[in-house]
Amino acid sequence: MAQLSDDCFAFGGPMMSVDEAVGLITTRVSAIADIEMVALVDADGRVLARDIAAPLPLPPFTNSAVDGYAVRNADLPQETERAFPLDGRIQAGGLVHAGIKPGHTARIFTGAPMPPGAETVFMQEDVRIDEAGNIVLPPGLKPGANVRPAGEDIPGGHIALRAGQRLRPQHVALAAAFGLSRLDVMRRIRVAVFSTGDELASPGEPRAASQLFDSNRFMLMAMLRRLGCEVSDLGILRDERNSLADGLKQVAGSHDLILTTGGVSTGEEDHVKAAVESIGSLVLWRMAIKPGRPVAMGIIEGTPLIGLPGNPVASFVTFVHVVRPTVLALAGSRPEPLLPIPVRAAFTYKKKIARREYVRASLRRGEDGTLEAVKFPREGAGLLSSLVETDGLIELGEDITRVQPGQYVGFLSYADLI
Ligand code: AMP
Ligand code: MG
Repeated sequence: MAQLSDDCFAFGGPMMSVDEAVGLITTRVSAIADIEMVALVDADGRVLARDIAAPLPLPPFTNSAVDGYAVRNADLPQETERAFPLDGRIQAGGLVHAGIKPGHTARIFTGAPMPPGAETVFMQEDVRIDEAGNIVLPPGLKPGANVRPAGEDIPGGHIALRAGQRLRPQHVALAAAFGLSRLDVMRRIRVAVFSTGDELASPGEPRAASQLFDSNRFMLMAMLRRLGCEVSDLGILRDERNSLADGLKQVAGSHDLILTTGGVSTGEEDHVKAAVESIGSLVLWRMAIKPGRPVAMGIIEGTPLIGLPGNPVASFVTFVHVVRPTVLALAGSRPEPLLPIPVRAAFTYKKKIARREYVRASLRRGEDGTLEAVKFPREGAGLLSSLVETDGLIELGEDITRVQPGQYVGFLSYADLI
């Protein structure tokens, strides 16, 4: 388990900016140490545990980029076209040519190894065959044209993949191109997920008239799984300090992170704070972010705990800015900062200075083809429809106080958040 010190989440200021929160997490959360080997087909989404130096150059041998005819550079036609007798035929994956004779050309196909001595390939579309069966090549082709030199993509020995890389299909492809069939990756981190609240019923169970079905737990578990976590679904804890404390204490030793939702405001029925304090240490991060209320950060027996707000949209947004970087740090991934893409606002909005806001928005093409963001018409932090019917979040920085139609704003697609 990742063992963090009791004071690692302590913060001096009254209000924490989103950047301060992410900075604190990335500097103070340490990665788990366990490494496991997985088959390449199972490596997508995992965090690479060791650097990979190219065991061979890519491409491994110099080869033709086109279907055509290979010649020596010394024989390249200069001013006028020139006829070449054929000297061999080289197919991709076929026998390696012994070496091209001066003044000759060889038929060659895409991906086939260049014959020794030949350095340039003419595309088949650019040549003609004369009555004697010779290949007539035009003048003017640059030496080395249409050839892919060995190592032009990646030289042998180059560190091509770094430890801490979260593997995507293109990284898996590169490992495969190196001939690797297994990779050392970080073990998946184990995350315990609880919802809290007497008003919650689990889907599939009976719901009392004053209850609603627990949606956050399923959203959070889905997000965690997308981040590569192994998730323990621990159900709903009642709004009662001792049962909360018991539930949390039971999972601390066997998980790398505990995640809760609800019960972290300062109302009388918000018991997460007191429960964590009774068995560990806790600080409330008052973040300058909307939507989002205080986020609880704690340590129980060395295991970090994050308590997210109960309102679904606040829970979603604080997950992205607090849980996501924590999970990446624990999992040994290097930080993956979120980079909003500029789009044109098709809405008016007013906001308070000195806090960051996230506005749910959909994208459409404006009349001139430019991408425009349309704000979801309602603002409540409890509206799940606002997350379902939009494409992402508009990030409005601390300095911004208003948005006018036509102004450029930063857009974070839901697809990029996890
Ligand atoms: P709380 O943060 O516990 O005060 O909850 C704030 C609001 O979010 C209340 O209206 C709760 O009913 C709602 N809420 C809390 N937890 C969940 C959950 N797991 N799923 C859906 N809504 C929730
Ligand atoms: Mg509650």
